Amino acid sequence: PRLGRNRSGEDPRAVLKDVFGYDEFRGDQAAIVAQVVAGSDAIVLMPTGGGKSITYQVPALVREGTGLVVSPLIALMHDQVDALTANGVNAAYLNSTQSAAERAGVEQAYLAGDLDVLYVAPERLSAPATTALLQRGRLSVIAIDEAHCVSQWGHDFRPDYLALGDLGQRFPGVPRMALTATATRATHREITERLHLERAAQFVASFDRPNIQYRIEPKVDPRRQLLQFIRSQPIVDGQAPAGIVYALSRKSVEQTAEYLRGQGIDALPYHAGLDAGIRARNQSRFLREEGVVMVATIAFGMGIDKPDVRFVAHIDLPKSVEGYYQETGRAGRDGEPAVAWMAYGLGDVVQQRRLIDQSPGERAYKQRLGQHLDAMLALCETVACRRQNLLAYFGQESGPCGNCDTCLTPADTFDGLVPAQKLLSTIVRLQRERNQAFGAGHLIDILRGASTERIRQQKHDTLSTYGLGADLSDQDWRSVIRQLLAGGVLAAQGEYGVLVPGERAGDVLRGEAQVPLRRDVLGKGGGAARVRK
Ligand code: ADP
Ligand code: ZN
Repeated sequence: PRLGRNRSGEDPRAVLKDVFGYDEFRGDQAAIVAQVVAGSDAIVLMPTGGGKSITYQVPALVREGTGLVVSPLIALMHDQVDALTANGVNAAYLNSTQSAAERAGVEQAYLAGDLDVLYVAPERLSAPATTALLQRGRLSVIAIDEAHCVSQWGHDFRPDYLALGDLGQRFPGVPRMALTATATRATHREITERLHLERAAQFVASFDRPNIQYRIEPKVDPRRQLLQFIRSQPIVDGQAPAGIVYALSRKSVEQTAEYLRGQGIDALPYHAGLDAGIRARNQSRFLREEGVVMVATIAFGMGIDKPDVRFVAHIDLPKSVEGYYQETGRAGRDGEPAVAWMAYGLGDVVQQRRLIDQSPGERAYKQRLGQHLDAMLALCETVACRRQNLLAYFGQESGPCGNCDTCLTPADTFDGLVPAQKLLSTIVRLQRERNQAFGAGHLIDILRGASTERIRQQKHDTLSTYGLGADLSDQDWRSVIRQLLAGGVLAAQGEYGVLVPGERAGDVLRGEAQVPLRRDVLGKGGGAARVRK
């Protein structure tokens, strides 16, 4: 039966039940659907697993015409179309994997008004012929999935997304939606501006995943720590937990999988360099069997919907908080307790800074990567609640969660008031007396009394704070600065990341604030992690 067709004008909840088999809308879904069915635009920021698809699929059915979904993930498109078809919805896609004949068939179906939902890749949509084709038929709604790809400063930029800004002009009167699970304030703003959704209703769901416990520990012997962590996970009904272990390099993926197998854990490798057949087999074992641990690069996981993943472990530092959140978000989608565990060391920082330095690209781009990394480090180094830090990054306020490592076992800290004051007064003096602002590197040089050419040229050795911070190493200062950034004592500005006083700076300068800093992440040159307990 063609359940999906001829649904126009029906009650969205009836469609939800009849077509998708769900009794109720969840969270903001009902409000979003109502908005779009009424013909208005919407921006939907909802974490992975929140149920974004329903919010455009239901309007696509309820409104007259075909719902157009822009999606960058071709593999995912295929799955979505299969799932919709299984529900009796007439769905199809247009992308580069199809033959000309297949494409022509889909185009015909669209023009005949036979499609409920049509997925397209963004590069296809930017071809004038596609626009012309779509204009000859009728669209009910345009949904731009993974909308954060429009953000040039984000972690997932796709140039084709920039061309989606004029969809409103190309298809006047068709409500547009932008959906993403990446929702920093900056990305949100860029989505609004670049996709011209200034008048769209905004739906911002909570990004909290209360059932996930966040744990980050200093890296000493990562494989053994990982093994210990996995072995400490509860066995339920005789079944070892399923999990994902993320590593940065293919080599590390293979070695770690082999090591775990040697220790009796059912671990499989997954990375883009593996034979496609092996990859498919490993993925299907992970999805179908119980208790499989997938050791993978970040190539694994997009679109994987396995509800009972009990842990996500990182043995290398993710490049950004967005990435960390997405990856850890694959744990506990069933709402049952799950753990996000990570081992993190200064070696990671050194390695990633080097990767950034060596990466091709403009200075501003590298600066941005550096800021992403800094935010990730701030999360690693916070003495406060991990969840609070994570949610704050996404612009959401919360109290301490009671269910992360720092809440459960407060970190070993020292009083950072004096170093913070030294740094702030350097920044303030430079600003007031010379109208200058600098990034971390130069400020540290001043505090440590370095004699660089820049310092001599600028006569910064005449500042009263010159050399006042020589008791801390360069690495220590970087850790202090990252933590002060994390705590709002400092803020980084502009493409060069110059440091300025943060919202809490006044209290610190007056000595009215406490500045607890983590000790366990302070390091001594050389890139090795040092654990002082
Ligand atoms: P997202 O795209 O936001 O990551 P999905 O749209 O894939 O999330 O939905 C996540 C899961 O939640 C899917 O398994 C989906 O079937 C389920 N889901 C979505 N909406 C509902 C609902 N109203 N009731 C029950 N389950 C739902
Ligand atoms: Zn907490």
